[in-house]
Amino acid sequence: MGKILNRKQFIQSYGATCKNWTWSWSFINHDLQMVIFGAWDSEHEQGRAVILRKEWEFSAKNIRQSGYSQAIEHLQYIHQGYDLYTFNMVHSPSPENRDVAVIKDFERRLEKRWLQKEGDVWYADVIDHTYPDEITFPEEYTEGTRKVITVNAYERNPEARRACISHHGTICKGCGFDFEKTYGEHGKGFIHIHHIRPLGTIGENYGVDPKEDMVPLCPNCHAMVHRGNATSPLSVDELRNLIEEAKARQVSFMSS
Ligand SMILES: [Zn+2]
Ligand SMILES: [Zn+2]
Repeated sequence: MGKILNRKQFIQSYGATCKNWTWSWSFINHDLQMVIFGAWDSEHEQGRAVILRKEWEFSAKNIRQSGYSQAIEHLQYIHQGYDLYTFNMVHSPSPENRDVAVIKDFERRLEKRWLQKEGDVWYADVIDHTYPDEITFPEEYTEGTRKVITVNAYERNPEARRACISHHGTICKGCGFDFEKTYGEHGKGFIHIHHIRPLGTIGENYGVDPKEDMVPLCPNCHAMVHRGNATSPLSVDELRNLIEEAKARQVSFMSS
């Protein structure tokens, strides 16, 4: 019979470590550029798990939690390009107080996840939300038997998409990239359609204006407007300014 690893042994089997094996909530391996978070079973929502909340910074007795500060540090590494992995933890039967919450058990399996911050909550998402509004067939994204619903009806409305393209064309509004010009016939018609108003903030009765609310972006520019925070993407003007600033720096570097 194989030996069942405890949490420390499990984490160490991935070469990851932490500041303290008792109070740590997250772990890191700098060589493999991986960050590991435990995900509470009680915190699971559709297709995502809560890995950190701002309210966990202080305990019920108002003591600053060392695990929180370390978790924030580890999240910074994910922003710099480290990969996020989670393992599922099972709460003890009556977890009324997080201070005394005990890990009843955990799954000895890491899963690749994508970090997403919304308000004061950090989620580990099943789907890479680099392009949150480009998921065309959400029904295909399933996790076990649970359906992952990340988009509402209007955003995958092909008519709105078509109307946007017929008004704005298929050339990137950020950088001017033209897929047909670069890739010929093969690239013709390819473009991402970005929703200027973040999908999560739009109510049920909101009607989309394909001219005002949608804009064609190449995947690079699209990833850049969403980078960092799903609830407040950059505006297209802000993105263009970044491109102009970077160009200007390059020119001054070349001529110096
Ligand atoms: Zn672009
Ligand atoms: Zn977008």
